[in-house]
Amino acid sequence: MRFDLVTIGDELLLGLTIDTNGAFIARELAELGGQIARRVSVGDAADEIARAVGEALERTGAVITTGGLGPTSDDLTRPAIAAVFGRDMYFDEVQWQRIRALWQARARPGEPPEANKQQVMLPEGCVVLENPIGTAPGIFLEDSAGRWTAMLPGVPGEMRAMLNERLIPLLLSRGRLGENVVRSRTLRTTGVAESMISEMLGSNARGFDDVSLAYLPGLEGVDLRLTVRDAPPDVADARLEARAAILRARMERYLYGQGTLTLPEVVLELCRARALTIATAESCTGGLLASRLTSIPGSSDVFLGGVVSYANEVKESLLGVPQEMLDAYGAVSSEVAQAMAAGVRERLGASIGIALTGVAGPGGGTPEKPVGLVWIAVDFGDWQRVYKGHFFISREDIRFRATQSALDAVRRRIEVPGDKTGIRND
Ligand code: AMP
Ligand code: MG
Repeated sequence: MRFDLVTIGDELLLGLTIDTNGAFIARELAELGGQIARRVSVGDAADEIARAVGEALERTGAVITTGGLGPTSDDLTRPAIAAVFGRDMYFDEVQWQRIRALWQARARPGEPPEANKQQVMLPEGCVVLENPIGTAPGIFLEDSAGRWTAMLPGVPGEMRAMLNERLIPLLLSRGRLGENVVRSRTLRTTGVAESMISEMLGSNARGFDDVSLAYLPGLEGVDLRLTVRDAPPDVADARLEARAAILRARMERYLYGQGTLTLPEVVLELCRARALTIATAESCTGGLLASRLTSIPGSSDVFLGGVVSYANEVKESLLGVPQEMLDAYGAVSSEVAQAMAAGVRERLGASIGIALTGVAGPGGGTPEKPVGLVWIAVDFGDWQRVYKGHFFISREDIRFRATQSALDAVRRRIEVPGDKTGIRND
């Protein structure tokens, strides 16, 4: 089943509001076998709304709109679409009494403003989609050829409630959603470039005949999203599992999780299962590593604490980095990174010490120590490694990627003990 989506509001065109309604509706319908064939946004102008909906009715004949159902003069969706269907408007007494009751239930004085009456001016012959949590009723309008338009509110919470509690049940009861679904599965990788992944996947780099593959690079790494379209739910799940198994076998050590799982969660879980604890010593990342770890609920049974050490005196006094070492190699050096990791591990009594020292930029780079250079040291007591990372783009990107690499070094030490891979320079 294919749908057209029209999201309405000047704020969407101005870029002041991101069209989260469109994304939400697409995901919900996909679960039920619906596909969005085209998604457009138009401003609060009756002729634009009418043209977009008219075209959509020609294309799929199944149209969902959001926005423009409010009580103000810029809310033009109802009359504009009624005109497309050639319907007159009527005053819906039942819905008006609902709005009055809601007004009183919210302990507001007197009667609702006259302006609210505009919200219950509805097209003749429509099905009312009652608003589960707000005033504006939604509208379902169908013509004699079975082409229809459903108008939902713009406010995201109201839109979601009306979609799930009113529109989807109505479409299901009328057989307007298929048996087939669209399902996805995401495999999360880090420390490996997109182009390398495509080489590693070989003949599967472009996906499979029954499952498509998308590469989604971001600060955390490259997510691989497998998608099955138009299949019964159990068939879709089986195909996804079979294809995910192939990718897992090819990506092995670069794969840290599935779905929405994050690397800090993975590392905490690996440590928790082995009763390992972590202490951090951060220079260029200013506590970001500690912050990412502690943003996960329950992290305190693994994460003991961290030191944010910028001045050399602090590296010396709190972490025990020798003054001579700082003088000889400088604060951004493999030697100092290792000493920071060992120092914080010992002083906090942790199983694992992690240290970062580097040049986050934008200033302060030299030919020997350019912006983006970060030394990352991991110390397990009986096992130590130091990695040289070179990260790019902005200060924020460099700092985030450095923490991601540090976490991945810990993960690989635990999950892939024989692994010799260094840190990718990106
Ligand atoms: P409206 O129903 O047009 O009065 O919209 C009410 C509010 O909902 C707007 O001020 C926006 O903040 C929000 N909104 C409208 N359309 C969208 C959309 N497509 N995605 C996310 N928020 C929206
Ligand atoms: Mg609006």
